[in-house]
Amino acid sequence: MIRVSNIEKFATHDGPGIRTTVFLKGCPLHCPWCANPETWKMEPTLLHDERKCVQCKTCMYMCAQEAISFPFQWDIDKCIYCKKCEDACLQDAISFVGKDIEIDEVIKEVLKDKDYFDQSNGGVTISGGEPFMQFDAFLELVKQCKENGLHVAVETTGNYSLDKLEQALPYIDLFLMDLKHLDAKKLKDVTGANLDLILNNFRYLAKYCPNKVIVRMPVIPRFNDDICEEVIKFCAVLKLAEVNLLPFHTMGKNKWNQMQIKFKYDQDSMMDRDILNPYMDIGKKWGVKVKIGG
Ligand code: SF4
Ligand code: SF4
Repeated sequence: MIRVSNIEKFATHDGPGIRTTVFLKGCPLHCPWCANPETWKMEPTLLHDERKCVQCKTCMYMCAQEAISFPFQWDIDKCIYCKKCEDACLQDAISFVGKDIEIDEVIKEVLKDKDYFDQSNGGVTISGGEPFMQFDAFLELVKQCKENGLHVAVETTGNYSLDKLEQALPYIDLFLMDLKHLDAKKLKDVTGANLDLILNNFRYLAKYCPNKVIVRMPVIPRFNDDICEEVIKFCAVLKLAEVNLLPFHTMGKNKWNQMQIKFKYDQDSMMDRDILNPYMDIGKKWGVKVKIGG
C-alpha cells in the first residue's frame, strides 16, 4: 500500500517523453512557493473550493467533531477523516487528497500507457511531496516499475540519508533533484531542508552516476534569484551535466487558498522566463547544459 495524492497522465515536464507522474503524500520540507502543498502531510488533506461553495454550511452541521467553522476553516487536529463533510456537500466543494492504493494497482494504472512511453522514450515519474518519505513503499514501487520495463524518474528534494539513496539507486534511471540554495541557514530557515544531507546525496550521485542526474533549481524572488551562477558552478565542479532553472510561478496559489493558508507570494507575478536566458551562456562557459524550465 502506498499513499498517493494524484496520478497524472501524459505529463511532459517531469522527465523525457510522455510520462505518467505518480504524486505521493508526505514531504519533510515546507517551501513557501510549493505548487503542491496538499502533499505535505501524510494524512489526507481537505481542500475547500470557495468558487463552488454556496455557504449552505451543511458540511459544518454534518461534522460531529466540530472540525469545520465559518468563514470556512478546517481544523486538522479535530478531524477524524470520516469524510461525512465531503459526502454531504452537494456542490463538490470539499475534497480530500490522499488515498492508500495497493502498489500493484498503481503499476496497473501506469502500464495502461506503456505504448505511449515506448513510442516517446517516456516512462513513469514518482513525485510528491517527497517520494522517499514513504521509503519502504516507494522502494517497492520503483522495483516493480523496473520489473515491468519502465523508465523510472524521481522528482526529489534529496533531503534524506544516503543509505536510502543507495538502496533505491539501482531502480531509478533519472533523478530530477532540487538544489534550492547553497547557504545552509537560509535553506533551513525558509524550507526546513538540511543542506548537508542534500549535498552528500549530490556528491554520491556525481561520483557513481552523474548521467542520471538533472539538477533542478526553482528560481524564487528574494530567496535565490541571485545565486543561479553559483549553482551552475557547483554543478560544474561535480561534473553534473544539466541544470534546469525553473522560473517562479504562482500556479499553486489556488491550492493554498483551498487549504485556507496564506500564499506568501500573493503580490508577486510569474517570472518572465527570458530573464533567465543569459544563464544558458553562463552554463556553456562552465560546461553545464542549462535549460530554462523543466
Ligand atoms: S456543504 Fe459544500 S457548499 Fe455547503 S458550505 Fe459546505 S462546502 Fe460549501
Ligand atoms: S472528515 Fe469528518 S471529522 Fe473531518 S471535517 Fe469532515 S466531517 Fe468533520
